Amino acid sequence: MTLPQTDGLIWLNGEFIKAEDAKVHVMTHTLHYGSGVFEGVRAYKTNNGTAIFRLHGHTKRLFDSAKILGMTIPYSYDEMIKVQIDAVKKNNLQEAYIRPLIFNDHSSLGLRIKPETNVHAMVAVWKWGAYLGDDQLKNGIRAKFSSFVRQHPNAAFTKAKSCGQYIICTQASQEVARAGYDEALMLDTEGYVSEASSANFFMVRNGVLITPPADNCLEGVTRDSVIRLAMAAGYEVQQRRITRDETYIADEAFLSGTAVEITPIREIDDRAIGNGKPGPITCKLKELFYDQVYCRNATFPDWSVLI
Ligand code: PMP
Repeated sequence: MTLPQTDGLIWLNGEFIKAEDAKVHVMTHTLHYGSGVFEGVRAYKTNNGTAIFRLHGHTKRLFDSAKILGMTIPYSYDEMIKVQIDAVKKNNLQEAYIRPLIFNDHSSLGLRIKPETNVHAMVAVWKWGAYLGDDQLKNGIRAKFSSFVRQHPNAAFTKAKSCGQYIICTQASQEVARAGYDEALMLDTEGYVSEASSANFFMVRNGVLITPPADNCLEGVTRDSVIRLAMAAGYEVQQRRITRDETYIADEAFLSGTAVEITPIREIDDRAIGNGKPGPITCKLKELFYDQVYCRNATFPDWSVLI
């Protein structure tokens, strides 16, 4: 895995500057209290040039996240679309992970965000390969339920990708990594399956694709893509509660997310899922997903923005 952008150009508050000059003050509000929102978007190298997958879906969620937190992004939607495209181009990348971040600066401290607090906007891009590893992307991950739970919807957001709430995701991820697993799954406060630390959860039972409802997990753009691709391909899709023990007897399971793309799960809590190999429906959905992001026979041709 290459390190997040340490050279090249970062867009900060209206201009592209050298990554090493893109700095913030140590009294930055978001650094202390997590009061920011962000996105993760991927650009793919296709036969027709670089295509940013669901750029509009991600940018819409960025603005929705800011609205939920009561922040005003000091740039228009069209400007934020343009700078994400420009960031990929100016860094001469054909494939990239794009990270927009909206944060409160150091113009006031104290929990309450004052009207005079300046909101800053940043876009960084870098090359990011398989988030959980190449072998894992191909052959599947070993997942484990963390003892950390996904926050109650009154304690965190489900429609906002806010910085502060990632503290639980990082703890869950580190907990299971220390125990030798690839990725953490989290239950919600009612005890039902919520999501992974960095992705949404899907499983297959008796040919039906099942995912938890988006009332207590992030409403993932990739989750939506998988659901729509699966439905278009004729699969039955259910959004319903899943218990921890039901995951153990799934025929297939996988994660969806911008970073993990579609990563099969071969084991949950030391139980093999199916025969321990990526199952046929997972493989089919992966194929449809990659056809989509690489703009080869895409089911939904307008999802990608060619730049
Ligand atoms: N859940 C969490 C906690 C995540 O961090 C992500 C990645 N943004 C997802 C789900 C998947 O969301 P998306 O498909 O929009 O990347």
